[in-house]
Amino acid sequence: MVKRQQRSTSYRRVARKTAKGTNLVKVKREDKHKASCAVCGKEYIKKKAKVKSSRRPQRMYGGQLCSNCLADVLKYRARLNESKIKQEEVPLIYLKYVVG
Ligand SMILES: [Zn+2]
Repeated sequence: MVKRQQRSTSYRRVARKTAKGTNLVKVKREDKHKASCAVCGKEYIKKKAKVKSSRRPQRMYGGQLCSNCLADVLKYRARLNESKIKQEEVPLIYLKYVVG
């Protein structure tokens, strides 16, 4: 009899052949972690990828910020560089990305 916890559909069944030649069926927990924005928490990639580096877009703060938050960060950074606003006026949640 299969263990009760392994009858759950949230487990993935993986067939493996051992060095001896016997067949095994391993039961693995699916990786639930998805890439999400560090500021707003939005999941910003729907595609399924195996490793974290292929889950992130190749742009500034890819894998950290979603496109909307990145646009805000760049907006505040430009305004700060032009001295149109002061550093105190930047929202605290963006400050790390605007200054750093
Ligand atoms: Zn965001």
